[in-house]
Amino acid sequence: MAFEGLSERLQSTIQKIKGKGKVTEADVKQMMREVRLALIEADVNLKVVKDFVKRVSERAVGAEVMKSLTPGQQVIKIVKDELTELMGGEHSQIKFNPKPPTVIMMVGLQGAGKTTTSGKLANLLRKKYNRKPLLVAADVYRPAAIKQLETLGKQLAIPVFSLGTDVSPVKIAEEAIEHAKKEHYDVVIIDTAGRLHIDEELMDELKNIRAIKEPDEVFLVVDAMTGQDAVNVAQSFNEAIGITGVILTKLDGDTRGGAALSIRAVTEKPIKFVGMGEKMDALEPFHPERMASRILGMGDVLSLIEKAQATVDAEKAKELEEKFKTQNFTFDDFVDQLKAVRKMGPLEDILKMLPGFNKIKGLNNIQIDEKQIDRLEAIVYSMTPEERAHPEIINASRKKRIAKGSGTSIQDVNRLLKQFEDMKKMMKQMMSMTQGKGKKKMKI
Ligand code: GDP
Repeated sequence: MAFEGLSERLQSTIQKIKGKGKVTEADVKQMMREVRLALIEADVNLKVVKDFVKRVSERAVGAEVMKSLTPGQQVIKIVKDELTELMGGEHSQIKFNPKPPTVIMMVGLQGAGKTTTSGKLANLLRKKYNRKPLLVAADVYRPAAIKQLETLGKQLAIPVFSLGTDVSPVKIAEEAIEHAKKEHYDVVIIDTAGRLHIDEELMDELKNIRAIKEPDEVFLVVDAMTGQDAVNVAQSFNEAIGITGVILTKLDGDTRGGAALSIRAVTEKPIKFVGMGEKMDALEPFHPERMASRILGMGDVLSLIEKAQATVDAEKAKELEEKFKTQNFTFDDFVDQLKAVRKMGPLEDILKMLPGFNKIKGLNNIQIDEKQIDRLEAIVYSMTPEERAHPEIINASRKKRIAKGSGTSIQDVNRLLKQFEDMKKMMKQMMSMTQGKGKKKMKI
């Protein structure tokens, strides 16, 4: 998980100060010593660490804490505010051109994930922003890169504009923009060439592409796992060609988080998106405040809700609510629900977004056994349609048949039936709460 080490250390540090009714200068000093070490260990740029510690210390011994009724909580709020600020404060939106097409140039070193991210971005723009994107293959030095983009395009059913490897990248970009205008594509994503290292020739080529038509965005793709190297790359690209934002890839594998915490402060350019996996839907808008909240173990319920909204179909949700109300929830619905949750991603990642999750003993390093869910599905699939709709008819001989059919035991079947009954009871209670006399709304 991203930020794992930092998260753990910061949480144990703030835990000590949390309940304090009085926070002395010595307390703040001690805490900041630990915060400093935690940030350095997370591979955060040294100057950034120094500035951060200075800002938090000044505020923490200031009037806002001393006058507060809950000084410990107030200090934690300051840490959270400053972490959010460090990562850019507000979420930085894509700048769409009012006169389409919006032109987005993707730049970066080889292997950072530029081509993959181009595909992910096109996919996200189409899905979340309702745009009609055109991908452009402008890495003429590596035929494999063009092929890779074409394969991604095919997989996503998003068109890829390419003119092979014999035409200059500038010409390709020019023609692609013309093509987009004619065919009414409203976003053009240009996948430019990468190199292993920064060199002048590459920078010149990128500058020339820039010169055709000032792009609305120049996104630098960097690999979070390379830590401070990613920060240096960002600084060099920014100085050489000027970037408008950063996409940080492979955050799913970055346990330290140094790049995410330093890039904005060093380059003054915002992180716009983060890559959280290899799949085409694993690109997320970067929200500094939510990320700070997650680092400090306060959960990220907003992202969780957005994830659920993106995967759960509104019609279905309504239908389900109706079934809960009328007590008509069946095993078929149960399996549908399991599937919907699984679509949101690995269960461990979902649980980690819940506030306080990592404070529950034993759950911190939880490994959800996805096989267990396969087993539940197998049991339900071994039931007849009638049994799924009316589980109360499942007697001993039916249980035996279901266990055999699903390759499980009678105890497994019993457990599932009990869970299903418990769930129905809970739903009934929740429904009566939301529809009760006081008309209290359920809180998430
Ligand atoms: P390029 O040379 O910069 O175009 O890099 P590619 O797009 O070919 O990506 C290099 C490798 O990184 C591929 O194996 C990708 O699947 C992988 N990759 C890209 N983004 C992510 C990410 O966010 N998470 C993970 N785990 N892998 C990623």
